[in-house]
Amino acid sequence: MQGAERLVKERRARLAAERLLDQKSRELALANDRLSTHALRLSEKVADQRQTLQAVQSEAAELQGTNVQMKSDLARALSAATLAQRRLWEAVETFRDGFAVFDTDQRLIIANGAYVAMFAGQGGDEGGAGTELQAGMLYSDIIRLMADGGIVDLGGRDPADWHHEMMERAGTDPIPPLVLGLSDGRSLRLIDRRGETGDLVCLTADITETVRREAELEEARARAEAASRAKSAFLANMSHEIRTPMNGVVGMADLLCETSLTEEQRLFAETIKSSGEALLTIINDVLDYSKAEAERLRLSPEPFDLERCLYEITLLLQPRAREKGIDLLVDFDLFLPTRFVADPGRMRQILTNLIGNAVKFTPRGHVLTRVVGLERPDGQFDLHVTVEDTGIGIAEANLEAIFGEFNQVEDEANRTFEGTGLGLAITRQLVTLMGGEIWVESEPGKGSCFGFRLTLPAAEDAGPLANHRPVTLRAAVLADPSMIGRTILTRQLETCGLTVRAHRSAAEALADLTANPACDLLILDQDDGGDLERALAAARRTLPDARILVASADPVHLRVADGLVDAVLQKPVLRSELFHRLQDFSASPSVTPSASPSAPPSAAPQPRRRLRVLAAEDNRTNQLVFRKMVEGLPLDLTLVANGRQAVDHWRADRPDLIFMDISMPEMDGRAAARLIREHEAAEGDAAHVPIVAMTAHALQGDSDDILAAGIDHYLTKPLKKPEILAHMAARAESLGLSLSPDVQSPAALRDPG
Ligand code: ADP
Repeated sequence: MQGAERLVKERRARLAAERLLDQKSRELALANDRLSTHALRLSEKVADQRQTLQAVQSEAAELQGTNVQMKSDLARALSAATLAQRRLWEAVETFRDGFAVFDTDQRLIIANGAYVAMFAGQGGDEGGAGTELQAGMLYSDIIRLMADGGIVDLGGRDPADWHHEMMERAGTDPIPPLVLGLSDGRSLRLIDRRGETGDLVCLTADITETVRREAELEEARARAEAASRAKSAFLANMSHEIRTPMNGVVGMADLLCETSLTEEQRLFAETIKSSGEALLTIINDVLDYSKAEAERLRLSPEPFDLERCLYEITLLLQPRAREKGIDLLVDFDLFLPTRFVADPGRMRQILTNLIGNAVKFTPRGHVLTRVVGLERPDGQFDLHVTVEDTGIGIAEANLEAIFGEFNQVEDEANRTFEGTGLGLAITRQLVTLMGGEIWVESEPGKGSCFGFRLTLPAAEDAGPLANHRPVTLRAAVLADPSMIGRTILTRQLETCGLTVRAHRSAAEALADLTANPACDLLILDQDDGGDLERALAAARRTLPDARILVASADPVHLRVADGLVDAVLQKPVLRSELFHRLQDFSASPSVTPSASPSAPPSAAPQPRRRLRVLAAEDNRTNQLVFRKMVEGLPLDLTLVANGRQAVDHWRADRPDLIFMDISMPEMDGRAAARLIREHEAAEGDAAHVPIVAMTAHALQGDSDDILAAGIDHYLTKPLKKPEILAHMAARAESLGLSLSPDVQSPAALRDPG
């Protein structure tokens, strides 16, 4: 048994081992499969990874190249930036102005030498100029250093206040510029800007030199202004001081001329008078010029009669022209209105200068003033005025210079003439001020022609020959030795509807009349050359029904026997005067010869009482002149010595007319006029008494000032008898009183400019 059992056992064991082996073999085969699959995959992965590695390796190589490039670029950029910064900083360092930059916390980043130098020596660090100013310092501390360290001149202010103000300023945006005075006398302008990132960029400019120059200029300007004011005041005073006694000199000489004198005494008296007047002209020129220079010349445009203005000027210059034997002619464009709007006083000044010069520089021949013009679409007139003479002329080289100040032609022909050389300078200033231009053409030995152009509005009441009374005269014969005079008069008569036969002399005219007696109007000339009285007598016989006129440059000295002439025409003939004369003749056809051409046209009404005139004047000589000028007139004159007395007298006596000096002691003329007007205002309109100021003042603004005081008119000294009489005559006429027989008609009244 034991063996069998054992065998069985062994067999069983073998079978078991065989099964196990079998199982393990299968497992092994399975594992082998898996292993080979895994190995396959693994090898695929390895291949992939190898590829990736290659790619990475090539990328890395590429990157390395780029890196090298960038490194070199960076190095270059860095060196360029360093260079730029160095240059910038070197530039900033060369600034004379201080420059500093603070960061957003207002800590100093950087400052140039000039900025640092502001603090030189501050902080007690000897030799270390500005060493206390370091990067990182607060703006606030730097400001404090400026205040406490005495860098800034605080002008006694509290440094803490100043610091506070400066910090407030730094907080604003934009920061306003500021000028600081330093204790060492320098001046700094602070210009601060906030950068985009919030940095504070500060610039301090040293403007010491500019400030010093500005101060110098300011001082010079103040000095110049003070000097100019002093000059104006001096001129005004001088004018007053000189005019007042000159009023006495000229006025008295004038009165003296009217007394009976020997030939020699008359010469002396007339010389005193003309020298006085010449002196006054010079004073006026100097005053005007200084006004123009100070740009204080102003215009006061108003309607005025240009033709009449010219006529008056020629009348004034007529005596001088006659003395020299030259003809003064006016040719006023027949188709122009006569009334325009401009400053009449200044217009008169321009024309007086030009015509006066022409008369002065013309020894023989004529002076012709011509006014022509055209209407513009806007209704204004382009006027062209020329003053032509046959005088000594002006050399080409001097033509421009004569319009300059104090310029006179210095040559043989010119040496004998007086003058200031200011007239043309003022004239040019005035013409320019009126918006016009002036020129001159001249030929030495032949004559000169001064012209100016102006554009002026016609006065609304214009219209050359405004009223409609008819002229019925038809045929005129005239004799005038001057060709231009003949032409002008002929044209004027033709415009009035007459046919004209013009001749050179009365003899020629008479010959014509004998052949052809068709004539309603005969005009002969005072300077005919022949025997005028005889010619007139002959004419009267030939033409019993015609009107006979004598044209005269000097009607005062024209003496013609009774009944020979109907009227005397003042030369130059004013168009409106001639027209009115023709209208008068047409209205009353009968011949009513007037014996004395200067006698007033109609009898005055019988005087009911005498005109009461009050004159206030403190200067005794001027009082005397005034009294003498009105002597012989039927009026009651009261003279008082100041404004106070004038007001008192006005209250007590109620004069018809007051002449009032402006500068008087105690109460001046303006104040007196104002008081009188105040009293009158309480009494109603009818109380108004005309007040005429008499003034020596000639500075601009005086006239406005005077008129503002309630004064109606003013006369500039020295007083002229005709002007005073004209005011009196106008007042007398308005009250129905008479001042005849000595006084000119009120038509002669004009306001002095
Ligand atoms: P004044 O006449 O006071 O000397 P103006 O300024 O009026 O000064 O004239 C300047 C100068 O121009 C005169 O001195 C003269 O030499 C010259 N002049 C002016 N007008 C004429 C003229 N019509 N004919 C010749 N010379 C003239």
